Amino acid sequence: MRKYQAAIFPAPNVPIQIREFPEPELEEGAALLHTSYSEVCGTDVHLHHGKLSGVPYPIIPGHVSVGRVAASRGAPKTVNGDAIKEGDTVTFLDVHGTCNNCYHCLVANQPTRCPSRRVYGITYSARDGLLGGWSQAIYLKPGVKMIQLPDALAPETFIGGGCGLVTALHAVDMARLQLGESVAVMGVGPVGQSVVALASLSGAGEIAAIDAVADRLSYARRMGATQTISLELSREERLSRAHGLTRARGFDIVIEASGAPEAVSEALDLVRDGGRVVVCGHYTDNGSVEIHPHWQINRKHVELRGCWGSRYEHFHRAVEIAARFGNEKPWREMVGATHGLTDAPIALDTVARRSAVKALIRPNS
Ligand SMILES: [Zn+2]
Ligand SMILES: [Zn+2]
Repeated sequence: MRKYQAAIFPAPNVPIQIREFPEPELEEGAALLHTSYSEVCGTDVHLHHGKLSGVPYPIIPGHVSVGRVAASRGAPKTVNGDAIKEGDTVTFLDVHGTCNNCYHCLVANQPTRCPSRRVYGITYSARDGLLGGWSQAIYLKPGVKMIQLPDALAPETFIGGGCGLVTALHAVDMARLQLGESVAVMGVGPVGQSVVALASLSGAGEIAAIDAVADRLSYARRMGATQTISLELSREERLSRAHGLTRARGFDIVIEASGAPEAVSEALDLVRDGGRVVVCGHYTDNGSVEIHPHWQINRKHVELRGCWGSRYEHFHRAVEIAARFGNEKPWREMVGATHGLTDAPIALDTVARRSAVKALIRPNS
């Protein structure tokens, strides 16, 4: 019987280990992928530092991945009804187990807050098998939704966008961007870069990228930013730049993707009266910030929304967008480095030190 190697986080702040897993037996409706690529993102850095609650260590990290179907039991189909065959290159929605049976799913219509929801590479334990992407194979439980990558879409392009693209799509949806509206994107890491790209594809007006890292700001220009604002400027200077770009009104939309608590307060200053702020940079607890409810929210008549997780629809559309616009928007080039399994610590360090926007693991290299 074949064995598969996987990189694991044994516990918070413990060095990554390589472990061997036996080839899993497939239950009805399950599939096995041979992993082509899995992402290393900021969430993995937080996971390694134990900054997310409820994580069942040891885990195999890697939530968004691309692989080849090596085996399946039953007849998996796409949402279009097409059969998924062995040898197909697919990605899959890393979220699984949403129950469609609880208050959050059925009444509040907020399935990303369903208590039964599990995420590959984050909330599944390595004790339960190959349930993360930093592994030569990934076990897709029954009900995990696969999406075939169209021939025109290189896996490297899709995974270059990866989870950041999916999150960005959800955030831009929540901002209800209309043609011609101005957008500020605070923090142009993997999520922010894709927010810039999607805002520009959506026909936004002025798109301002705000970040401390000069390389990231010039990259954001390639993604479609029309303006860049460096964090080297003071907060007052940034506000005055924003006013200079918007006839002193502020941006129609501000999307916070930086993870800095102060950025949420600043977002409320940068947005125009009656504008929309979407917060999608705080997937971990980075602390609190003072907000002035009268001046920053109530009187401004501002809409402030939090964006947590993604649904199948976001994943599905992200694949279509990457296929259609992958030559126009340089998602593929966002990948700074690709490493084998044993170099997973290097890949993680690259992302932790922000020396690359994104790194990939290629477990079968
Ligand atoms: Zn539920
Ligand atoms: Zn991620």
